[in-house]
Amino acid sequence: MNRRVTVIGGGVIGLATAYALVREGLAVDLVEARGSLASATSFANGGQLSYRYVAPLADAGVPWQALGWLLQGESPLRLRMRLDPAQWRWLAAFVMACRHTVNRRNAAWLLELALHSQATLARWREDDGLQGFAWRRNGKLVAFRTARAFAHGREHLLEPDSQQVLGAAELQALEPALADAPFIGGVFTPDEEVADCHRFCQRLAERLQASGLCRLLLGRPVTGWVRRDDEVLALELGSEQLDVERVVLCAGYRSPGLALPGMKLPIYPLKGYSLTAPITAEHLAPQVSITDYERKIVYARLDQQLRVAAMVDIIGFDESVDARRLRSMHRLAGETLPRAADYERAVEWAGMRPATPTGGPIIGGTPYRNVWLNLGHGALGFTLACGSGERLARMLG
Ligand SMILES: Cc1cc2nc3c(=O)[nH]c(=O)nc-3n(C[C@H](O)[C@H](O)[C@H](O)COP(=O)(O)OP(=O)(O)OC[C@H]3O[C@@H](n4cnc5c(N)ncnc54)[C@H](O)[C@@H]3O)c2cc1C
Repeated sequence: MNRRVTVIGGGVIGLATAYALVREGLAVDLVEARGSLASATSFANGGQLSYRYVAPLADAGVPWQALGWLLQGESPLRLRMRLDPAQWRWLAAFVMACRHTVNRRNAAWLLELALHSQATLARWREDDGLQGFAWRRNGKLVAFRTARAFAHGREHLLEPDSQQVLGAAELQALEPALADAPFIGGVFTPDEEVADCHRFCQRLAERLQASGLCRLLLGRPVTGWVRRDDEVLALELGSEQLDVERVVLCAGYRSPGLALPGMKLPIYPLKGYSLTAPITAEHLAPQVSITDYERKIVYARLDQQLRVAAMVDIIGFDESVDARRLRSMHRLAGETLPRAADYERAVEWAGMRPATPTGGPIIGGTPYRNVWLNLGHGALGFTLACGSGERLARMLG
C-alpha cells in the first residue's frame, strides 16, 4: 500500500508538492479551505517564471529607499502600521536582513532553487506532457528609465553569461511594443519563461485526479491539530477529524494561523494587484515579459491577455481590491505601453504574497516528526513551486 501524505493548501505550492509526491508514488490527500483550487494568491499573479531574478527585496539601502517611496504619492510601496506584533516583528526582521552579505547569500540559494525549478518544470512538461497553461520561453526584459538605475542593473546580474545588456535602440529592435516607452536601456534574459499560474494549477489538479493516488478535499478548512507529544495524529476539519500519517503545510500567507507550539513561521502578507487586459488584433502587445524597474511593474503576455502586476502593500490581512491602487496601475500601464491591450476591459485582482523577511521560502521538517513545511515563497511562488515541491517530495519519498 502507498504511504499517504496530507497536504494542507491548494495553491500553486500545495499542488506542485502534491504532484511531486504522486510522481514519487506516494498517495496524497490535499485539503483546501476554499471551494476551488488556486483561488487565493495563485489566482492572477504576474505570470513570470523569473528564474534569474530571485534576489530578495531585503538588501543594503532598501529601508532608506522604502522611506523615500512612502513619501511619494503614487508609490509602489504602502505601509499601514497596525496594532499587530506580528507586523512589527516581521518589519524588524526585514530591516535586520537588509545587509548586502545576507542578500547575496540568500540570492545564491534562491538562484539554485529557481534553476532546479526550471529543470523540474521542463521535465514535467516533456516527460509527462503537461501543457495548456500558456507556457512560453519568451525571455524577460528588465527596462530602466534612468542612467543610475541602468548602471545598478548592469552591475547586479546574477548570471551574466546568459544575460544581454541592451541600449535604447536595441530594446526597440527586440520588442517593437516599446516604441513609445521611455526606457533608456535594459537587461534581457532569453531563458526566462512565462505562464498562467491558475491554469497551471488546474492542469496539475487534473493530473492528480487522473492518477488515482490523490484525493482533493475542497471546502474543508483545517481548524486544528490532534497531536500526541511530537506527532500529529489527525487534522480537525471543523467538527470532523481526518487521520494523517505525514503532513505538509502549504497554506500560504495563512500558514502562521496553523503553527503548532515550537514552530516559527515568520510569514506576513504583502498585498499586490494585477490587471488582466484582453489583447485584440488592433493592439501591439509585447512578446517578451517586461519589468519596469523604477516603477516596479511587470507586464506578461499570456496568450491573448496582458497581465500587469505591481505594488506592495504592508497593511495586514485586508484582501480587498483597493480602487485607488488599481487606478494608479491603469494610469501607469496606459502611459508606458498605451497600445498593448484594452485596459478599459481589464479584470482587476488583489492577492497576498506569503513573505518571509529574508525572501527565502521555508522548506523542510519541523520539531514534529511527521510535519513538514513548504511555504513563504513571497513574490516568487510560481517561479519556485516545482523545485520546492520536488525537494519536499524527495525528503518524504
Ligand atoms: C500581485 C502579485 C504578483 C505576483 N507575481 C508573481 C510572478 O510573476 N511570479 C511568481 O513566481 N510569483 C508571483 N507572485 C507570488 C505568487 O503568486 C505566490 O508566491 C504564490 O501564489 C503562493 O502560493 P501558495 O500556494 O503558497 O499560496 P496560495 O496560493 O495562497 O495557496 C494557499 C492555499 O492554502 C489554503 N488555506 C489557507 N488556510 C487553510 C486552512 N486552514 N485549511 C486548508 N487550506 C487552507 C488557501 O485557501 C489557499 O488556497 C505574485 C503575487 C502577487 C500578489
